[in-house]
Amino acid sequence: MSQIGTEVLIIGGGIGGAAIARELSKYKIDATLVEKGVDFGQGITKCSSTIMCQGANVLEFRPEYHNSRLVWGGMTLMEPLCQELDVPFKKMGSLEVFKNKEQMKHLNKMMRRFKEYQDKYLPPDIEPLQFLDRDEIRKQEPNLNKKFMGGVYDPNIAINDPVRLTIALVDNAKRNGINVLTETEVIDISAGTDEFEVETNNGTITCRYIINAAGEYIADIAQMVDADDFAMYPVKAYQAVLDKKRGDMIKSMVLSVENGMVSPTIHGNLFFGISPLTQRLGRAHDHSTDKKLADIALGHAQTLLPDISAGDIINSFVGFIMFRNFEVGWHECTVGASRWVPGFINASIGYPGICAAPAVAREMIEILTEEGLSLEENPQFDPYEKAMPDFSDLPDEEKKQLIAQDPRYGHVVCRCETVTEGEIVEAIKRGARTLDGVKFRCRPGMGRCQGGFCGPRVTKILARELGISEEEVTKKGGESRNLLYKSKELLEAQQ
Ligand SMILES: Cc1cc2nc3c(=O)[nH]c(=O)nc-3n(C[C@H](O)[C@H](O)[C@H](O)COP(=O)(O)OP(=O)(O)OC[C@H]3O[C@@H](n4cnc5c(N)ncnc54)[C@H](O)[C@@H]3O)c2cc1C
Repeated sequence: MSQIGTEVLIIGGGIGGAAIARELSKYKIDATLVEKGVDFGQGITKCSSTIMCQGANVLEFRPEYHNSRLVWGGMTLMEPLCQELDVPFKKMGSLEVFKNKEQMKHLNKMMRRFKEYQDKYLPPDIEPLQFLDRDEIRKQEPNLNKKFMGGVYDPNIAINDPVRLTIALVDNAKRNGINVLTETEVIDISAGTDEFEVETNNGTITCRYIINAAGEYIADIAQMVDADDFAMYPVKAYQAVLDKKRGDMIKSMVLSVENGMVSPTIHGNLFFGISPLTQRLGRAHDHSTDKKLADIALGHAQTLLPDISAGDIINSFVGFIMFRNFEVGWHECTVGASRWVPGFINASIGYPGICAAPAVAREMIEILTEEGLSLEENPQFDPYEKAMPDFSDLPDEEKKQLIAQDPRYGHVVCRCETVTEGEIVEAIKRGARTLDGVKFRCRPGMGRCQGGFCGPRVTKILARELGISEEEVTKKGGESRNLLYKSKELLEAQQ
């Protein structure tokens, strides 16, 4: 057990904590980020739909809500951030469709609101929304259900990879001087006169300021020190990922008021999800999925794209959107200093927390300053990271060069996603310690077989590179071991 002291402690290595850590690394500061998991972005962040609201959804955002101001603030920050950190970001647009006059009124209202907000709150380079009639939506998205009468196209909507962004933010924060501890779970906190004592499974941390970015557990952490001056309303949302062979069925995200949405991912799959407003499902921390949930979601998705089927689904999961004060709508967030405990700051955006993360991080600097922390710029701050090579995306000439430099790039380990041994080794060098750690960095196991074929090979490579036995390799840390025994040893023990 260890004892460390730090000025600012950030609890949680999701997109929120990671963006804050990286923002703090622009200053000369002694700050520490603790994450209870073995890796980053594996909480709510990994369940995200990866949609970057670049200005639409105007009916869901209002200037009087802090949440909206943060999302609008994040709109101009996200693309340059992804460029600095070499994380993919792609504008693909969205098409919200209607099938009757009632739904058309809703979209007309959205167009009016967009015009009203455009000059006052949205970034100057935001492109206008376009109203498309039946023929135009068919031309744009020919696989869409023919019963839709028209829709509103928003060219500003983008997608990215939130887990890669989170990992890149942490890597960059670390390189710029932030102390980062994984497998370190905050268990209790006590508040002294001018410092906190934070008990973790690895020892005690004393600090002057706490930033609580614990996602689904934000209220549990705040309660430890009686700083829970907010009410959370976790809403369970279901998502399913489809085989890449369905990837080109639509060009843009397609959504409707009643039927949730279907969207491309940045890696060429499609996925669909149930909007939490249409289905209020389950209790916090219950991450189970079931057939009823899956059937409802598929039914909605088929209303949008009739040709998709259950056989196209390769993975499904749920996540919790941490709404605040659900009864007043889903617009508010929990970002700010506690009114009850000086130096304790909460940071959670229910939705869309990925889009808002860069603005939340900037606002955190203001909040810390108001709370009495003096910050001086870090002249050595380097904003750039270089992503590892993505072999399958490279032109042939670059593939050849890479193989010539390191023959392991010529050995394909995951056939579904064409991931090479060279990429897996590089992911491990860059911090992957588990099967999921490798998967979220370079995608073996993300394809149709979901790791059924490549899983044992990735396990072998992890064991070799980390110098541990194959039985010690886990899916995502802790007790999540895939291999319990060598079958021969088990047989021998039974004889
Ligand atoms: C289904 C779904 C779809 C979504 N789609 C979008 C979208 O398209 N666009 C968008 O912008 N947003 C979207 N969101 C919202 C977005 O994903 C979240 O707002 C965001 O990921 C929250 O990030 P976070 O860092 O606050 O939480 P998390 O990612 O959960 O991170 C919190 C971290 O804290 C750690 N932690 C918890 N307790 C402790 C402890 N005691 N000690 C140490 N560490 C601890 C956890 O392990 C976790 O890693 C979606 C959310 C869901 C559920």
